[in-house]
Amino acid sequence: MPECINKEELRSKLMEIVENMCTDFVISAINKCIDNLPVADVAPVKHGMWIEVEGDKLVGIDSNGKDMYRYYRYNICAKCGRRSAIKSNFCPNCGAKMDLEEEKNKRD
Ligand SMILES: [Zn+2]
Repeated sequence: MPECINKEELRSKLMEIVENMCTDFVISAINKCIDNLPVADVAPVKHGMWIEVEGDKLVGIDSNGKDMYRYYRYNICAKCGRRSAIKSNFCPNCGAKMDLEEEKNKRD
């Protein structure tokens, strides 16, 4: 499986090493080689986190006239706002990798 690299980082590191050792011809060959490498079809990784939301929601009135509440809990993607009952490793909507620190929010 090919690994993805940043061409400009590779070029910069190589030039640090060979700058004073090689002729212009060799440096030109290195640059040509890097420029001609195929570009991988990859998207940058988005990093996100789940924001846990929980609270009690008014759902009605019981026979004694008292308010009835129901406890709820879900998670919101901090990147796109998608709700999810499950804290998956990636957001199913925007694809964010959920590796940032989690927050806990309480909403009523
Ligand atoms: Zn998302």
